[in-house]
Amino acid sequence: MTGKNRLVDLDTIPYEKRVFVNRSLRMEHIAAVGFDMDYTLAIYKESAEFLTWELALKRLVHDYDYPERALSLTYKPDFTIRGLVIDTHKGNILKVDGHKFVQRAVHGSKALTHDQIRNEYRNTLLRLAGKRFVVVDSLFERPEVYMYASMVDLLEKEKGKKLRAGQYSALFWAIRNSVDSVHADGSLKVRLTKDMDTYFYKDPELASTLHKLRSSGKKLFLLTNSEWWFVDRVMGFLLNGGHPDYQNWRQFFDLLIIKSAKPGFFVSRAPFLWVDDRTGEPMGIVQDKLQRGVVYQGGNIHDLEAKWEYSGDSILYVGDNIFSDIVRSKKRTTWRTTLIIPEMETELDRTRRVAERIQLVAREDDLLRDLYLRLKALHLRQKNGEAVQDEVDVIRKEMDVLESDVARQEQAVLRAFNPLFGMLFKERHEPSLFGAQMEDYACIYTSKVSNLALYSPMEYFRSPRDLLPHEIHLFR
Ligand code: IMP
Ligand code: MG
Repeated sequence: MTGKNRLVDLDTIPYEKRVFVNRSLRMEHIAAVGFDMDYTLAIYKESAEFLTWELALKRLVHDYDYPERALSLTYKPDFTIRGLVIDTHKGNILKVDGHKFVQRAVHGSKALTHDQIRNEYRNTLLRLAGKRFVVVDSLFERPEVYMYASMVDLLEKEKGKKLRAGQYSALFWAIRNSVDSVHADGSLKVRLTKDMDTYFYKDPELASTLHKLRSSGKKLFLLTNSEWWFVDRVMGFLLNGGHPDYQNWRQFFDLLIIKSAKPGFFVSRAPFLWVDDRTGEPMGIVQDKLQRGVVYQGGNIHDLEAKWEYSGDSILYVGDNIFSDIVRSKKRTTWRTTLIIPEMETELDRTRRVAERIQLVAREDDLLRDLYLRLKALHLRQKNGEAVQDEVDVIRKEMDVLESDVARQEQAVLRAFNPLFGMLFKERHEPSLFGAQMEDYACIYTSKVSNLALYSPMEYFRSPRDLLPHEIHLFR
């Protein structure tokens, strides 16, 4: 992007705080900006994952009769990355690429070899919308992924053999329900709100970011699945006292929608109910226009657009859940989308540290391809009776050396990221499932909401011009 087209000099923005662009977006055309709450405006600390683990594990043991010994398992927060797929029939956790091919897999917490992966998945079409495969879309799910892995290890060790398919899936659904119930019955939220500083980051730039957007004439709205008492506590913690022009957090927003049941919000016809903000109780179905200052519950995209002044591509929605905030909204609306990726700063830092190695692997891969072609040509000449064995041997040796170096470099790259699953966005040269969904459905993406304040509210976010495979040779 040239300096002339930009309102802010990109060089002044640290790389890890930048907004990255998949699909060009003119902020001057955006009239309303909607925000998800959890993991978008409210970033949870790792301590919240430990708490979820502790509460859900107790429930798993007591409500589903798993052995008491499980209570001594400890949570490993760096085990999981987003976008993994759980094979609930086999006790496996998979990393798949954007074409849904399995690239890495663990059984329990132990890595499977390439041969094992080929044997198990070469002929399996991963139907991600079915019951067998479950995708890790949200950061809330991180504890349950490791709980599944460590429970598979524990139960197999106890039995001295593998479990039956039904037992792997019963375990998964018992864990899923345990985690679900600590969210749904409020027990997790009561603990979280007792000690907000322990469980949530407080971004000192958040209030001024929202103010900057409002000052440019944009309307702001909140669209969250959380319930009123929790929203009020968390948003109060994040924003009250954050800016002298606002007496409390509600004043930042022109529309408040809670318990929205995303992703259903984008496909259902559930009515909007207005909520008594003292009790959190829904009071009645909304017939008229949606108004500032009222708290609404439920609803759906169709009614939102009919009962509010803003609709379509003048709305930018900002969320963290790749499926329910981004993929669903993009497939069902013309809203523009921003994906918040809290893992991004760490991921970028790691990428930077191994960038040279990654480039080296790419060069070595190119060389290997050339050598392979030369080898093929030599084999043809051999078939025609030419004596080229010496040349064949030299090339084979070169290929061996290169192949083992590629393997060594790739291991080093992997170690810099997640030792079992590697990078969040990629798998070797291909995007991972998460990376591919992000590329296809998020117009722009960044690590946190306050990064938006580093740009003008009228910014023209322009996507880098991408070349199609058949154009690369011609234009680069
Ligand atoms: P949002 O990200 O603001 O839309 O809201 C996420 C809400 O979903 C939070 O209130 C979470 O506590 C809740 N949540 C996350 N995982 C689960 C679950 O497994 N069952 C029920 N609620 C959940
Ligand atoms: Mg969220």
